[in-house]
Amino acid sequence: MEAPELLVVDDSRIVRAMVSDVLRAQGYRIREAQNGREALERVQESPPDLVLLDVMMPEMDGYEVCRELRRREEADDYIPILMLTAKGDVEDLARGLDAGADDYISKPFDNVELVARVRSLLRIRALQKRLSQQNLELEAKNQQLQALTRQLDAANQELKLLSVTDGLTKAYNHRHFQERLKAEYARAARHGEPLACVMIDLDRFKRINDTYGHPAGDRVLVRLVEILKDAVRSEDLVARYGGEEFVLLLPKTDAGLARTIAERLRNRIAGEPVPIGRDRRIHVTVSMGVADYLPGEQERSPDELLRAADEALYRAKANGRNRVEVA
Ligand code: GH3
Ligand code: MG
Ligand code: MG
Repeated sequence: MEAPELLVVDDSRIVRAMVSDVLRAQGYRIREAQNGREALERVQESPPDLVLLDVMMPEMDGYEVCRELRRREEADDYIPILMLTAKGDVEDLARGLDAGADDYISKPFDNVELVARVRSLLRIRALQKRLSQQNLELEAKNQQLQALTRQLDAANQELKLLSVTDGLTKAYNHRHFQERLKAEYARAARHGEPLACVMIDLDRFKRINDTYGHPAGDRVLVRLVEILKDAVRSEDLVARYGGEEFVLLLPKTDAGLARTIAERLRNRIAGEPVPIGRDRRIHVTVSMGVADYLPGEQERSPDELLRAADEALYRAKANGRNRVEVA
């Protein structure tokens, strides 16, 4: 490590030389300034490890320089100041300390005392530097920790999404659907609002797999969910009930409105063949079963609501497929 650098400020060339010689002999690096303005410039250029500051100087006295140095000080770089007072005047001493000096020594001074005081202030300076270094390291660690926390939050969110969705289609999974069904059902009951359920099943899907291959079948499932999600409102739920069967949960919707929505969807799906690879498209249709729960009118438990929609779907299949039936 480099030797500490000291700035010796005194208007007397002789005093400067005396002080500098003693300290240079101790191995310190020395810079000098002959007045207050120069002292401030030196510090500005590069902060020393300690300033030895004469009190009695023309223009700007030591107190003023001291105050100015403290005013300009960076929060993380405290430079100790040792005042060189002419007399052992207690008032001078008090003024110096009040101005921001850390210690003082009276001229004429004893070399051994000068060196001892310098060493003591440098010790404090070294300690302060170490502390601010540790602060910086802590700050950096803290930032790392915050970044990690953000990553963890993102990962957790991802995990949460994975736990409620189906990997292939990104529709909500069966378990999540059951949870939401209970919640939406309870809400509908509480507010006396309708709740509709639409069961959707791809027609002759086994044949699509057999004809075009399983990956093409997968592509159809993904596309179907895209269309479903695109068509419903944000408060509606699209879930994969199982295999090639999907379910919509439509809050504040009765069977009549649900049927309209279902018909529109059925039409769109039948009218938009799914692209699979180069200029090949698969024409697919769906059958749907609609049922609703109307508090006070069409009383059904959540299970009954599902069963009613499933029975309607069964009828849609029996009646020729590519159809919507209402329970
Ligand atoms: P229906 O009109 O009566 O519904 O006839 P279907 O062929 O669609 O019904 P079935 O229940 O006989 O066959 C369903 C098919 O769906 C069989 C199964 O292999 C296929 N399937 C289920 N899950 C997936 C999947 O994740 N990917 C693919 N590609 N096929 C699936
Ligand atoms: Mg099917
Ligand atoms: Mg099926």
